[in-house]
Amino acid sequence: MKAELISTGTELLLGQTLNTNAYYLSQKLSSLGINVYYHTTVGDNAERMEQVLRTALDRADLVITTGGLGPTVDDLTKQAVCRVWDLEQEVHAESLERVKAFFVKLGRDMPESNLKQAYFPTGSKVIPNHLGTAPGALVEKGDQIIVILPGPPAEMRPMFEETVEPYLKDKTKSAPEFIKTRVLKIFGMSEAMVDEILDRLLIGQTNPTVALLAKTAELHVRISAAASSEQEAWQGIWDLEEKIRHKLGDKIFAGGNLTMAAAVGELLSRAGMTISTAESCTGGLIGGAITAVAGSSAYYLGGFNTYSNDLKHKLLGVSRETLEKYGAVSAQTAEEMAAGARLKAGTDLAVSSTGIAGPGGSSEEKPVGLVYVGLATPEGTQTQSFNFFGNREGIRALTVNGALNWVRLYLMQGRAN
Ligand code: AMP
Ligand code: MG
Repeated sequence: MKAELISTGTELLLGQTLNTNAYYLSQKLSSLGINVYYHTTVGDNAERMEQVLRTALDRADLVITTGGLGPTVDDLTKQAVCRVWDLEQEVHAESLERVKAFFVKLGRDMPESNLKQAYFPTGSKVIPNHLGTAPGALVEKGDQIIVILPGPPAEMRPMFEETVEPYLKDKTKSAPEFIKTRVLKIFGMSEAMVDEILDRLLIGQTNPTVALLAKTAELHVRISAAASSEQEAWQGIWDLEEKIRHKLGDKIFAGGNLTMAAAVGELLSRAGMTISTAESCTGGLIGGAITAVAGSSAYYLGGFNTYSNDLKHKLLGVSRETLEKYGAVSAQTAEEMAAGARLKAGTDLAVSSTGIAGPGGSSEEKPVGLVYVGLATPEGTQTQSFNFFGNREGIRALTVNGALNWVRLYLMQGRAN
């Protein structure tokens, strides 16, 4: 079954309302094994609404509209459906009673315009709305289905779950399709680099499909498979995942919902090691990421948020001479910060960050995005420099993942054991 979503509402086109209905419905349809090929958003305009509906019906089996079911003149969805499928509108007695009762309950007179909400294209199956005055409708013609839902997410979602979802489940029962998705997360590589490495795995893939998605401070490889059973869909994903892992190796830091910090946490737990943090340019974000993982108290003892030179010296013992001679953003400072944290916290490992997140504070030798990370281990302390690109938020996020990724690689090399 091929589906298409039509979101109506001028407020969506003006950027005043985020189209969360499309997001929600797409997730729902995908979990039902229904392929969504297009999303269209159209304003409250009769002509364009009709045009969009005709286009959708030219290429989809199932069209779901949201919005345009209110009582006012700019609520046009049902009229548009009638025009496109040459249907009349007829009153639905039960809905009329419900709308009337709704106003009795409110203790208000019902505006004449609300009558409109009890009218539906001939042959509709009415979708009850327990939370508002606009019921939806399910209209069938030949092999095609139009589902009409109201715009407010709080009304639309329960209506979909109560009426539309069971209806669609029943429809797809005879030839079920399962669509499964898995994400592999990568740090430190661009889309182009990954594309080149994956090479033939990406070309001409139709099932499973592979897509690269650039996210903040990481890159996601999304594998999606469709099959007539869940098991078969997962098998398709696992087979391709194995090939991808073979090519990308330890560049992949996590699969599924796991974050970088959670991946590091698992490795620390397995090694039975503890860690502390010494942060400057990230101001506690590394500690924040680590502690966002439930159970992190087993391996994270705490951190030092040393933004000033003074605190770097007082709390971590970074020497005044180092700060003077090399500056706060330097390999030497990163090294002394990590070593100091490890010593003061009494942890097996300590990781530090110092860098120029911008937009100000840069110089010719120290541009925005220059970041030093230190890693103190039982074998000694090392530093790494990065030249990150992005705005302040991006550079700080990259620093968090860069620092944690280094801890991950260290632990994976098994030097700890
Ligand atoms: P309507 O059924 O057109 O009267 O929708 C009324 C309200 O629903 C709008 O004012 C929006 O706040 C909300 N709404 C409509 N469409 C969407 C959408 N696609 N995503 C999220 N909210 C929406
Ligand atoms: Mg509207």
